[in-house]
Amino acid sequence: MPDPIRFYSTNRNVPAITLDEALLQGQAGDRGLFLPEAFPAISADELVSMAGRSYSYVAHAILRKYTLGVIDDATLKSLCEDAYDFDVPLERVSGRLHLMRLDRGPTASFKDFAARMMARWMSVLMREQDDELVILTATSGDTGSAVAHAYHGVERMRVVVLFPPAEVSGRQRKQMTTIGGNVTTIGIDGQFDDCQAMVKRAFADPALKHIRLTSANSINIGRLLPQSVYYVYAYVNLADVAAQEPITICVPSGNFGDMMGAIIARRMGLPTQRLIIATNANDEVPRYLETGRYEKITPSRVCISNAMNVGHPSNLARLVDVYGGWMDETGVVRRQPDLEAMRRDLYAISIDDDETRATIKEAYDRHGVILEPHGAVGWAGLEHYLRDHPEAAGRSAVSVETAHPAKFPEEIQRLIGVEPEIPPSLAGLEKKPESYEKLAAAYEPFRDWLLEWVRKG
Ligand SMILES: *Cc1c(COP(=O)(O)O)cnc(C)c1O
Repeated sequence: MPDPIRFYSTNRNVPAITLDEALLQGQAGDRGLFLPEAFPAISADELVSMAGRSYSYVAHAILRKYTLGVIDDATLKSLCEDAYDFDVPLERVSGRLHLMRLDRGPTASFKDFAARMMARWMSVLMREQDDELVILTATSGDTGSAVAHAYHGVERMRVVVLFPPAEVSGRQRKQMTTIGGNVTTIGIDGQFDDCQAMVKRAFADPALKHIRLTSANSINIGRLLPQSVYYVYAYVNLADVAAQEPITICVPSGNFGDMMGAIIARRMGLPTQRLIIATNANDEVPRYLETGRYEKITPSRVCISNAMNVGHPSNLARLVDVYGGWMDETGVVRRQPDLEAMRRDLYAISIDDDETRATIKEAYDRHGVILEPHGAVGWAGLEHYLRDHPEAAGRSAVSVETAHPAKFPEEIQRLIGVEPEIPPSLAGLEKKPESYEKLAAAYEPFRDWLLEWVRKG
């Protein structure tokens, strides 16, 4: 059996470790982010053999390359079957242009794909260690509910979610506060940034050292590896696999975790054309690629694609690293990556709210397709690329729809006069009983609450 793949930190000040350790640590001790030392290859024959197979089959075939020697193969197979028990629709929009809807999981956002696998991996690892893990996460919306659902009922895991009630929609709040069981939600009387700061302090607090705390946001490598799978799945279902036809992929991006999944798939050998990165008005990455100067946007710009309102993507350090550069934990580029290679491989574009809205309307009027704001940013990005690169027209292309339109009923109703149908995952939320703690936006009361909560068990 080959040795397990090892993961190094982008700051390179700690030794490389195996996946089990990287999953449980989250961020590296030197505050860098973990990346695999080598990207295992997917062969052309393997791709051929995946065509027409189920999503869980493809997930197992890809992920076993990373879990080898860490998680038993038969266990991984059953985890994949258990985690991926919902549809992954590939919807033809026109010609060979497709939309991949990653919105059929239990919280109707693409974050379900990775959160569900990471929760199961961690649970298996904790069983071996005979210990319990507390997942602490701050959310401005989708991450909290995806994480809470993914870990709900998973043995040896307890979840605490901090959220700002004033900044999340009623539906988003209910998706977190109606779960119960091993999931506790706390409404913080403040902003998302306050929640985030409190979580960060807890991780660094010696008074909490006896609690095994970890994070479930996209700094954890466990959130990225499963996100490479759906690009492979799209490829084997849409491209001429036998001819190794390269596919064009477009990813609407905020923290760049989803996009790193596409980078990983490509490094593993998935035949791809340029990768299109579409951001909303938070255009720090498109600008960086253009000018070579990186400047965060603070505070981040408020756009209708609210899950992408990110002024400094936490996964950018990984992208820079993959292209030979170094971005430290404060967001400073200490060594420039190969910008020429990045420009060759990536096409980055910023789409503002006006264009996002126009795209939702046009996609419906021309193709009968219902997009929500995040997916519309992606679709607009793909259209720009095809206008700039007529030679790419006629090739197969896929843009990612990251949330279900029913999460944005008012906006969509206003634009196209249609009320999106509510998927089973969101139905009945109104009637479910809600419960959540309430705390001030201050660290000490939160720490005291956490100590007491752990003591009570
Ligand atoms: C989180 C999220 C995004 C952005 O994904 P990143 O991995 O942060 O780039 C896009 N759309 C939706 C609906 C999301 O929840």
